[in-house]
Amino acid sequence: MNIILLGPPGAGKGTQAERLVASRGLVQLSTGDMLRAAADTDTEIGHRVKEIMEQGQLVSDDVMVEMIHERILQPDCKNGFILDGFPRTVVQAEALDAMLEKQGLRLHMVIEMAVEEAALVERITGRFACAKCKHGYHDIFLPTKVPGVCDVCGSTEFTRRKDDKAETVHKRLEAYRAQTMPILPYYEGRGILRRVDGMADIDVVTQEIEAQLNKA
Ligand code: ADP
Ligand code: ADP
Ligand code: ZN
Repeated sequence: MNIILLGPPGAGKGTQAERLVASRGLVQLSTGDMLRAAADTDTEIGHRVKEIMEQGQLVSDDVMVEMIHERILQPDCKNGFILDGFPRTVVQAEALDAMLEKQGLRLHMVIEMAVEEAALVERITGRFACAKCKHGYHDIFLPTKVPGVCDVCGSTEFTRRKDDKAETVHKRLEAYRAQTMPILPYYEGRGILRRVDGMADIDVVTQEIEAQLNKA
């Protein structure tokens, strides 16, 4: 099954994608993770991407479409994938359709995770991840079981994203409203859009998503 998790920054896309990888054997295609890996390289494109991300703006459609195109051609995507963070513009959504069609693939479902803006700021500013295994946490909503120790791998080192501060969050929410929300009617018109209440507890959201996928 090929699905998209769509929602504003902090909606819980990464958290839920990690669970779907475990429960359904899908591969997670996170363009944010791919871009952060690119931004870590000492290259011209790396520097450019880093600057754009730190300003809370979107990376150009050309770069993004090329990046996801290369990834989707990899053999591990044949068994199904979850797109997390892509598409973010109508141009990207159209390009995705074209590349899937060329390979005889299709999208089965687009799941919109709806969360109120005030909650998003709180989620993003409390977000952190294990430096080693990348498992995601939250200061209040999903802390480690033992303070300072990763539940999954036992590491004691954690990272916070540079763009996860209040000033940048507002820019990112603006980009979501202006550039990403127009994608919703595009998928709604095709009858593949489903909405889940992203305000619910993490486990409840997982159950809602699983219930939708079971109906596909
Ligand atoms: P979040 O988890 O908060 O939604 P992501 O990790 O998906 O954020 O993305 C982080 C940043 O990477 C975005 O603010 C944007 O600058 C860039 N980015 C990620 N995916 C895309 C995309 N599909 N198109 C353009 N920019 C993107
Ligand atoms: P996204 O990938 O959409 O940007 P994340 O999955 O990284 O969002 O979640 C953002 C932060 O909010 C993380 O710290 C995560 O632990 C937390 N979080 C995710 N889902 C929920 C939820 N349903 N309720 C409370 N906190 C959540
Ligand atoms: Zn870990």
